[in-house]
Amino acid sequence: MNVYENLGITPVINASGPVTRLGGALMKDDVFKAMKEASGYSVSLEELQGVASQKISELTDTEAAIVTCGASSALTLGAAAIIAELNLSRISKIPALSFTPEFLVAHHQRNSYDRAISLTGGKIINIGLDDITSGAGVRGVELWEYDLERTEHSVAVLYTIGDKFVESDLKFVVDWAHQANLKVIVDAAASLPPVENLKLIPGTGADLVCFSGGKAIGGPQSSGILCGQKKLVASALLQLLDWDEHMELWNPAEGILDKNSLAGLPRHGIGRGMKVGKEEIIGLLKALELFTPEEVEANISRYLIILNHIIENIKRLKVHCELNQELGKYPVLNIQLDTESSQQNAFQLCQRLRDGHPRIFPGHGRLNENIIQINPACLKEGDESTIIQRLNEELKM
Ligand SMILES: *Cc1c(COP(=O)(O)O)cnc(C)c1O
Repeated sequence: MNVYENLGITPVINASGPVTRLGGALMKDDVFKAMKEASGYSVSLEELQGVASQKISELTDTEAAIVTCGASSALTLGAAAIIAELNLSRISKIPALSFTPEFLVAHHQRNSYDRAISLTGGKIINIGLDDITSGAGVRGVELWEYDLERTEHSVAVLYTIGDKFVESDLKFVVDWAHQANLKVIVDAAASLPPVENLKLIPGTGADLVCFSGGKAIGGPQSSGILCGQKKLVASALLQLLDWDEHMELWNPAEGILDKNSLAGLPRHGIGRGMKVGKEEIIGLLKALELFTPEEVEANISRYLIILNHIIENIKRLKVHCELNQELGKYPVLNIQLDTESSQQNAFQLCQRLRDGHPRIFPGHGRLNENIIQINPACLKEGDESTIIQRLNEELKM
């Protein structure tokens, strides 16, 4: 019996990929070993974040970086950093500020993680209309539309990278924002692989970029990265760490915080409840070390074998299989049910797979199109045979 079974919980077959609801990525042994070792010592968290900054800023080509407890937390800390910078009064007041800082967000980029920004007291302002996404026309949100909503309280543009990273699009927004004296914070949580995006996204000139550590990087589930401009990263760190310390004794993290720029040590900031353990920092650094183009390449080959094997063994069923593989990204298998001949639709099939023995959680992002998805990233040895068997049982005529 494993630790879960001891508690009466049966682990599931995760065909959804490293989603948070199912616990994120499966960590590699080396990551897990590093975390275990990390837990056996006491260290200065600030010093550790300082070293993490050096390593991660090198990988992302940025001035500084910190490890957060996820991309969502990186968004909150990044927004708080943009609002306060090193202003101790603002740091102490967030989220109850005397003004409402505004974050401009293109209409089609609004999503559930906006909440991470609102947490700071900031307000999300909807920008423009997107006729491309709605299919009603040929124009997406345009720069002049940001201008329409800009006020004296606007502080930044929040830019979320969805499925596709379009470098030129982000660059246009960054150039516009900087000329309007606004910062740009990018939610790039799920923009990996390709590994190159670690550098390409900050390379657009965006002031802050957030990545998730517990998705493709394969780090601890509760880890993430905030990287970018040094002054902003310093502010984020100031609002994250525990400051139960005397200013006289304080020895700032090398390379990030500057004692001379502060009148005193702030009290706990908004990030205190989002603390990052030494184990997570070490685990993420280890995972980043292993997250190389070669490893991604090898994973893609392995995933393609798995998915093609599944296709080969379900193609006689009344389904239409489509292997979705974009260059440099991890492939996903879309299985569209034949509405005519199938007794069940994708919602029902998804439910039956989840409720079966063993429980299988297929990707459920396109159920409305009668598609279930197989994301191979979190499958374990033998899972593909189980998936094949269950699909055959459920969909046989
Ligand atoms: C997953 C995700 C997040 C949150 O990342 P965590 O590391 O789980 O906090 C934020 N934004 C987007 C677009 C995501 O896909």
